[in-house]
Formats: sequence, structure tokens, C-alpha cells
Amino acid sequence: MKGMFGGYGGRFVPETLMPAVEELERAFNKCRKDRKFNSELNALLSGFVGRPTPLTFAPRLSSQLGCKIYLKREDLCHTGAHKINNALGQGLLAKYMGKKRIIAETGAGQHGVASAAACAMLGLECCIYMGTVDMERQKPNVLRMRLCGAKVIPVDSGTRTLKDAINEAMRDWTANVKDTHYLLGSALGPHPYPTMVCHFQSVIGKECRRQVLKAEGKLPRAIIACVGGGSNAIGIFGAFLKDKKVELIGVEAGGRGIEGGEHAARFADEKLGRKGVLHGTLTYVLQDSDGQIYNTHSISAGLDYSAVGPQHSYLRETGRAKYYFATDREALDALKLLCEKEGIIPALESAHAIAYALRYAKGCKKNDIVVINVSGRGDKDLETVSKALGEGNEQV
Ligand SMILES: *Cc1c(COP(=O)(O)O)cnc(C)c1O
Repeated sequence: MKGMFGGYGGRFVPETLMPAVEELERAFNKCRKDRKFNSELNALLSGFVGRPTPLTFAPRLSSQLGCKIYLKREDLCHTGAHKINNALGQGLLAKYMGKKRIIAETGAGQHGVASAAACAMLGLECCIYMGTVDMERQKPNVLRMRLCGAKVIPVDSGTRTLKDAINEAMRDWTANVKDTHYLLGSALGPHPYPTMVCHFQSVIGKECRRQVLKAEGKLPRAIIACVGGGSNAIGIFGAFLKDKKVELIGVEAGGRGIEGGEHAARFADEKLGRKGVLHGTLTYVLQDSDGQIYNTHSISAGLDYSAVGPQHSYLRETGRAKYYFATDREALDALKLLCEKEGIIPALESAHAIAYALRYAKGCKKNDIVVINVSGRGDKDLETVSKALGEGNEQV
């Protein structure tokens, strides 16, 4: 089967969607090699997104941890996270394909905002599917999407969250393939999505490799990134895959701990996390003993998904990347630490990567370099953080 990473990935879609994914695959393969497409995309990445994003040395965190910590600053991307890299890439591709209408799903609203902004700028019509529970939780993002001219379509089925929004978006795509592109937000879904999203996010790793070599004259000991669907992680890992000495580390959401099942740790929970198919791809999926999708919990909405991108399942199986988890509590503590030491408020998702870096640094020497991918900024999480730390608390 096409689009396999070892035994993972593939294209498990209804026959009615097959022509659409095949058309998309052909267009992507053509555009990724096209000079005009690439120069147009690169101009947008610098002029609109603000790339390259800096690789920032974190002096006070480094001296506390006893090694050299660098932060890849995806939090400085326009709209506040790495998601815009992919939204622009796919939006431009859709334009080259002659599509007029974009549909997308969103959970936390970050991908919805990135898609809405990209579509406004590219002059494309934009419809965003979003669960009604998420719409209630993420009101400011709903407003941002609407301000950018997107139509937000409430999804009232199932658990009324991300996976239901994806189901609805796929249904819409099936009915409107002719003029519509489905802009999927992470390295998930049927082939070519995982490969394509990885490609559009690979700019993170390419910049980072160049920047760390310039700053230090050598490669880092480790790269650490949080893993929801896995797009920011695969984006930064890509340029280092062949550098066998660089440890690649993904961090999942451990929620309230693995034992109680309230988490989104597809790899860490050996009981609930098993191979299965979700949204068109074969990968690790949290499921109950009947194979029903198991509901996830994480303090960070962006890591709250039952499946993981298939390439991560493969990298884990081959041992090229390692995966760990951080709990809600650890992520909160890490968020506070980065704020206090470096004056950077990270997204709660990114705070999971920071939390694991704190543990990892204990085994490091003074001159070891550790790069953390700060996938997004924390402004969207202020309310969650203040609730979790206790409102009115002077610690906040
Ligand atoms: C959506 C999101 C994530 C998780 O998505 P990946 O595809 O795993 O990168 C991580 N960080 C931020 C800031 C996000 O918005």
C-alpha cells in the first residue's frame, strides 16, 4: 500500500474519497518540485509568517539545568504556533489545484485560526468544523476565525470534540471533492497527508539544524518536541533523522497519569494504546477492549487526540525516536519555570516538551546541547493556567 512507514500509515478511506486523495497526491508531488510554487511559498513564509523563527539560547534555564538549552521559537510564527506553516502550504497547493473552497477541522481552534488566516490571505473560501464543546471552551479562537471571514460549523454529534469534527469534515469532502480541499491540521490521515504535512513543517528542522551549527559548531545531543498528532515534532526531527547521534524525543500528554486512563499517551499506555485505524491511517490508537475509540484527556487541547501520526509509530518501532510523557501537573510547572527564567510564555502543549527536558538534563554534561521545540505561545492558555494554578493565588 502507498504511504506506508514500515507497517504504519496507508490510505484507509471509502471508495468515494479515493479519487480526491489520488488527485491530491499527484498535485503535491508536482508542486513540491515546482520552482514557482516553492518560491511563492518561501516568500509567504518569510513575509507573512515571519520565518525564519529564531533559535534562542536560554541562559538562565541552562545554568539551572547544567547543560546548554536552546529554544526553537515557533511561538513567534504569525497566529502563534507552527500550524500556519502547514496551513499556508496546503492553502497554496489548493490554489494551484484550482480549488476555491477549503474545509478544515479544529479542536482547540489553533488550526482553525491558522487556516482562516491563510485562506483570507490567499483569497479562498474557508469552512471550519468544530465540536460544540470545543466552541464553548475556545470562544476567542471562534471569534478570530470568524473575523478572518471563515464560516465556523458547529458539530453536535458524538463527544462534540475534535474527532467528531474530523468525521464531519471528511463527510463534507466526500460530497464536495470537485471544488474543495480538505486542509488537515496534523501529520495524520490517509496518504498523502502525513508525508505532505511533514514536508510543509520540515522548514522548522532545516532552519534549526543550520542555526545550531552556526551558534555552536556542532549538532545537539537531543531534540525534544511535544506530540499531539505529531506535526511539530516530525517537522523538527526531519532534518536530523540521518544524524544518528542526535537523540529525537517526542513527549505525549500524560494527563492525570497513565494508570487512570485519563491522558492522551498512545504509546505509554500499553493497555489502551494499540494498533488500529483512525481517520484513514493505521497507527497507535487509544481504544477500549472492543476497539471503540477511547476518550482522551489533557490540560492542553492540542495534544488531546486518540491517535498519533503513523511516522511516529514507525520511528518508535525502529528506535530512531524515543517517546515519553509529561503529566498536566508537570507541564504546568514547566510552563511557569520557562516564564520565570526566560520571560517566554509557552503554549501548554510545548510545556510538555519542556517538562521532559528538565528530566533529560539530569543525565547531561555542561557542554551538551538540548533543543526544545517551543511549538506555540501560551496566550491562548492563560485562562486554563490561571484556573489550574488557583485564581487569586499569589503564585499565579
Ligand atoms: C496543535 C498544537 C500542537 C499539537 O499538534 P502537533 O501536530 O503534534 O504538532 C502542539 N503545540 C501547539 C502550540 C499546537 O497548537
